[in-house]
Amino acid sequence: MNARNSLFLLFAILLSVTVHADEPPQKYAIVIHGGAGKSPSSEEWKRGRENVLNVALETGVKLLRSEKSSLDTVEAVVRILEDSPYFNAGKGAVFNAAGAHELDSTMMDGRDRSTGAVGGVSTVKNPVSLARRVMTDTRHVLLVTSGAEAFADGYADDSMIERVPNSYFSTDHQKQGLERVQKQQRQAEADSMGTVGCVALDVHGNLAAATSTGGLTNKKYGRIGDSPIAGAGTFADNKTCGVSCTGIGEDFIRNAVAYDVSARMAYRNDSLDTAVRDILNGKEQTVRGGIIAISHTGEIVMRFNTEGMARAAADSTGRREVHVSE
Ligand code: ASP
Repeated sequence: MNARNSLFLLFAILLSVTVHADEPPQKYAIVIHGGAGKSPSSEEWKRGRENVLNVALETGVKLLRSEKSSLDTVEAVVRILEDSPYFNAGKGAVFNAAGAHELDSTMMDGRDRSTGAVGGVSTVKNPVSLARRVMTDTRHVLLVTSGAEAFADGYADDSMIERVPNSYFSTDHQKQGLERVQKQQRQAEADSMGTVGCVALDVHGNLAAATSTGGLTNKKYGRIGDSPIAGAGTFADNKTCGVSCTGIGEDFIRNAVAYDVSARMAYRNDSLDTAVRDILNGKEQTVRGGIIAISHTGEIVMRFNTEGMARAAADSTGRREVHVSE
């Protein structure tokens, strides 16, 4: 290669590096919660939760980096958490007062506020995927108990809608939790940790949120919490933010918390962090629990007013964190 050609090659390399550097980075963000409440006391539980949160976060980041949608991402992440006995969703769900498991879940699409949810399901291994089918395959938003089970029957050939006996969800840990709570009702709140949720902003600029839970230990048979109620436990709107909540569901329903976060941004011009902080600071209303959220610009917020909240976050700037307690 003569000197002129080498110079030309060098110039071409420099130009391509410059052009590449000018490309805006593909912006994405993901945040996960594993429930607000009491922090796990044993090392085994801390490690167990940490491992699963790491796997869930890595999976979410990989999907977002490969330009998958926020809906696919939150579904995949929540399924991982539902399959783990270390969280109160899917396998490992708490017991209700009748000694059984009733599961609630929602998924919401920030592009148009499409929502699907199921409440009080008892044989669906991954309620988050059934919630997605309600969103995409029906004109409804929420199906509950035997109606939701009958809807799931229509997906016998769909590997995402696996059915299991109710006993599949049982773990010794939650059995002991029920016994403790039944002996001393006041522990119900402290033991509520473990609900799961995920919010993602994909490289196409779309937000999605999903939440899944077994509810509160010793809850009344038929009780449905905030998790399957759009605007209470879950919300997503590309113009403002995506939100997933955890805590005492009745507080979140009474105060339309997930929607309130978005409304404060839309109507008061609050930042995402201010909106979440003010809702949880107890000055205006009692909301016991935690909130994870991502704004339409990619700001991540994770706040709680309980002893702890398992949580994880990552984004395209290189941020990456996992916390299992306070
Ligand atoms: N919010 C859930 C419910 O009330 C419980 C939780 O987040 O731990 O059903």
